[in-house]
Amino acid sequence: MSMRVVVGTKNAHKVLELQRILEGLIPGLVLEPSPEDSPVEDGDTFSANALIKARAAFRSTGRPAIADDSGLEVRWLQGRPGIFSARYAESGVDADNTAKVLSEMAGVEDRAAAFVCAAALVHEGGEVVIEKRWEGSLAQEPAGSGGFGYDPVFIPDGYLVTSAELTAEEKDSLSHRGQAFRALAPALAALG
Ligand code: IMP
Repeated sequence: MSMRVVVGTKNAHKVLELQRILEGLIPGLVLEPSPEDSPVEDGDTFSANALIKARAAFRSTGRPAIADDSGLEVRWLQGRPGIFSARYAESGVDADNTAKVLSEMAGVEDRAAAFVCAAALVHEGGEVVIEKRWEGSLAQEPAGSGGFGYDPVFIPDGYLVTSAELTAEEKDSLSHRGQAFRALAPALAALG
């Protein structure tokens, strides 16, 4: 039996990652992008913004909806770019966002950083939101062509390569998004 769930994002990379992460855990799950335009993300935490996106997708379709809000937190930059990760540079282009973080970190020794993901589920019976972190550090320069966003400059703890140099399966098994949506999966599976 199939279970149709709406995803509150227009980011094709994210839909692909969510599909990969969840399909093994919830047989028959079919993820569909939300038909609604992206709502204004005016929350001040990842969790608040994930709920805003999932609620909008639920309201416009009446079907169970999931969404994530995620980003990079750099310790030396007091947690920036944080919830503003997608549009840290004015253009919002991945390479420009990454270049801006690297230039702000030029010469800085403390390169600790973490990817954070809040995964939200909204359905007629209620709401769930779960936040997870993937700890690592910032590379000196971009490397690798996998993933998206800041992947070419993020070196996960315990690795010598960036998350853009991991296979998709390796990234999913470690990542903030993998952790958060695996934790959310039982609540989603219970709706089937
Ligand atoms: P959102 O769509 O508002 O959640 O913005 C998330 C932004 O954070 C993305 O556009 C990326 O810049 C960054 N980001 C989140 N997750 C990842 C990841 O897994 N790899 C690289 N960058 C990420």
